[in-house]
Amino acid sequence: MRIVFLGAPGVGKGTQAERMAAAFRHTKISTGDLLREAVRNRTPLGLEAKAYMDQGQLVPDAVVIGMVKEKLEQSTTGRDFILDGFPRTVPQAEELGKLLASKSLSLDRVVNFAVPTTDLVRRMSGRRSCAKCQAVYHVEFSPPQTADVCDRCGGGLTQRSDDKAETIEARLRVYDQQTAPLIQYYRERKLLVDLDGAGAMEAVQLRLEQALGLPVRT
Ligand code: AMP
Repeated sequence: MRIVFLGAPGVGKGTQAERMAAAFRHTKISTGDLLREAVRNRTPLGLEAKAYMDQGQLVPDAVVIGMVKEKLEQSTTGRDFILDGFPRTVPQAEELGKLLASKSLSLDRVVNFAVPTTDLVRRMSGRRSCAKCQAVYHVEFSPPQTADVCDRCGGGLTQRSDDKAETIEARLRVYDQQTAPLIQYYRERKLLVDLDGAGAMEAVQLRLEQALGLPVRT
């Protein structure tokens, strides 16, 4: 399947993309993860992107589109993928459509994750990630066994600079203005599946798999 996960920051699409990619051996392409990796490695692209990310703004379309193009060309499983956090603007969606058409491919579904805004803020502000292996935790919903220490590798947990209160507000505004129009864009193209993203991640995963008509796993 070729799927896009759409939704506001903090809605849980990254967590679900990770779980679904593992369960169904799909390639997951997360533009947020790719950009954070570029920032950590201090590449020219990372240095350019960091200024936008720290302010909760979107990185310019051309940069992100180039990154996704490269990733799709490289991807070894090729035809099946989950796009997490891309596209985020109408021009990105148009470029994705052209890119897939040039390979005689198209999207199967766009999942629109939704949760109340108060939950988004709570999910983002409690999120922590390992500075070493990037595993993601939540102080309330999925805490590590020892506070601030990664269960997987023992690394220290930190808060993403764009998960601080001031930046969260900007990111939600940017979502409403630039990304939410994609709901209508994909609804008109009959690709949109609405998904209630509230509740525990296992429950959301089950709803997601049902909504996509995937086989029940035991
Ligand atoms: P995320 O981890 O998906 O919340 O992304 C973190 C940040 O990376 C966003 O706030 C943007 O600054 C940037 N970013 C991620 N994906 C995109 C995209 N498709 N277009 C533009 N900027 C993006």
